[in-house]
Amino acid sequence: MSIQSNLLEITSTLPAHVTLVAVSKTKPVPDLMEAYNAGQRIFGENKIQEMEAKHAEMPKDIEWHMIGHVQTNKVKYMATFVSLVHGVDSLKLLAEINKQAKKNNRVIDCLLQMHIAEEETKFGMDENELDELLASEEFKQLENIKVTGLMGMATFTEDENQIRKEFTHLKTVFDVLSSKPETRNLKPVTLSMGMSGDYNIAIGCGSTMVRIGSSIFGHR
Ligand SMILES: *Cc1c(COP(=O)(O)O)cnc(C)c1O
Repeated sequence: MSIQSNLLEITSTLPAHVTLVAVSKTKPVPDLMEAYNAGQRIFGENKIQEMEAKHAEMPKDIEWHMIGHVQTNKVKYMATFVSLVHGVDSLKLLAEINKQAKKNNRVIDCLLQMHIAEEETKFGMDENELDELLASEEFKQLENIKVTGLMGMATFTEDENQIRKEFTHLKTVFDVLSSKPETRNLKPVTLSMGMSGDYNIAIGCGSTMVRIGSSIFGHR
């Protein structure tokens, strides 16, 4: 199967309200260009320097999404061009993104990452941490970021019921968040959940953005 046919097979089954992020981490530029030439314009990377290098080399109408864990000292390398940062799980990181966005006269969209899996290793906040962050004075002062939704990863398991339970939980948190009045820097419209192995379950649970890598580009 070619990258192009994998991509077209997936996009043909996605509902219209679901956005596809093609996760191209570790893959070389010619692979990404094959997806680009098949029409894909949103790419997700998990390492800032790798994303920066690909951004420099590739067409400028691509939206670059940072889907990995971000170290605060590296935010400056993506602040000029990144479209959406999926993995924000602390006020400290949000404040640094705000600072670098301001230097570039931009507002950078961010998703707050929630911890929904059973595994301890996955990053993300719990609901109390989310509430605390959003209620803080410091958050309210941030003018160069906008929180446009939530992101989460389910437990890596064959147990579909477990996965469904975790995605449903995240959807509930998202619904509570989106029922609050919008503010200048909080406008939750995006729920990023679902990868190659579980995106159909995620869509069934209310995902609006899926991050798919290996089903498009092959195994890493
Ligand atoms: C790698 C990665 C993906 C894509 O994983 P696949 O199983 O290859 O589809 C999605 N989200 C995040 C956060 C990732 O790191």
